[in-house]
Amino acid sequence: MVVITNQSGVGRGYLTRETLAAIHNKLGEELGRRGAVVDAIYYCPHHPEEGCECRKPRPGLFLTAIRELGVDPEVSYVVGDRERDLEPGKSLGCKAVLVNTGPPEVDVAADFTAPSLLEAVRWIIGNGVSPEKPRR
Ligand SMILES: [Zn+2]
Repeated sequence: MVVITNQSGVGRGYLTRETLAAIHNKLGEELGRRGAVVDAIYYCPHHPEEGCECRKPRPGLFLTAIRELGVDPEVSYVVGDRERDLEPGKSLGCKAVLVNTGPPEVDVAADFTAPSLLEAVRWIIGNGVSPEKPRR
């Protein structure tokens, strides 16, 4: 599993990279304790107005994951609670799963809409993919 996240709090000065690294370490530990493997966490630290290539919905971090980890988007899923999370994955060929826990999003084209992250994972497993095995 690869986590790709916008963290403009860094660019806005609300959050240091060190604090974010601690949060990401904790996330990895908690998920690992439950049997989920986080292969990498990529984040955009920039302020939205910087116009960088890595802030979702731009595909920069997805392309980095493809290059660095050998992720094959054609057999991968993108999971998120907002259109901007899904869009870069969809544009690269991933199947999209909308987790409907965030603010209501209308007209989001997804292959599946799940009421929770757990249900998203169950649907993905039902499609014959183990989220615990990295695709390399
Ligand atoms: Zn960025």
